[in-house]
Amino acid sequence: MYQIYALKYGERETTACNFFYRETSHAPLTLDFFVWLILGGPQPVLVDTGCCAEDAAQRGLRNFVSPAAMVERLGVKAAEVPIALVSHLHWDHWAGHTLFPAAEFWIQASEVAFWTGPVARYEAYKALANAPALGSLVTLNYANRIRLVDGECEIFPGLRVHWVGGHTAGLQIVSVETARGRVVLTSDASHFYRNVERYQPTQIITSLPQMLAGFDTIHALAGDPARIVAGHDPEVAARFKPLETGIIQIA
Ligand SMILES: [Zn+2]
Repeated sequence: MYQIYALKYGERETTACNFFYRETSHAPLTLDFFVWLILGGPQPVLVDTGCCAEDAAQRGLRNFVSPAAMVERLGVKAAEVPIALVSHLHWDHWAGHTLFPAAEFWIQASEVAFWTGPVARYEAYKALANAPALGSLVTLNYANRIRLVDGECEIFPGLRVHWVGGHTAGLQIVSVETARGRVVLTSDASHFYRNVERYQPTQIITSLPQMLAGFDTIHALAGDPARIVAGHDPEVAARFKPLETGIIQIA
């Protein structure tokens, strides 16, 4: 049985029209930024890497705390994190990879192909990337630190990644067996609970059909909506158990 912690490393104001498909409201909305730590298995497993201070400053994050510092508050040395499952390669999930210098990064092959392929250069996608962080995929691969995954894959018994796509070409979500049942970390397959609960996609997509099918996958894996952990929703702190500032115990 695993324990899961959501670790908040920053926040930013946005508006509803940015995150809900065809939404016209400019109502204010707060985005929380997380990485997730899974303990209780053979090795600690990090989900996503967050970003570094430079990205946080450039992108206007408030109350930034290094994801490495958040991980260490749970007693795991950032320099010794052995495995990081990378949901996708947007700046707020991948640009922090340098904070975890021993990690092997598990990424969908289709995600790497997208960001190194012909479409990524268009502004609509490029704006979501940290180009040097994407460039390091090559050197990390040559250092045997990239594990390319194709579809569904078991990391340890009861801990799996599942390709869903939609928001990005190779977006993967994570399912984890815990004392409260199988928890699903959606990352950006559902930024907010409103996405997955009302089947309202985000505006940032590579495939709308994949995003909608991804909601089905999330519900099917979780079984119970109470075991879904949305990727950027401040509501996570209300639905699960805050332990101290920035640390929420999921299970
Ligand atoms: Zn994100």
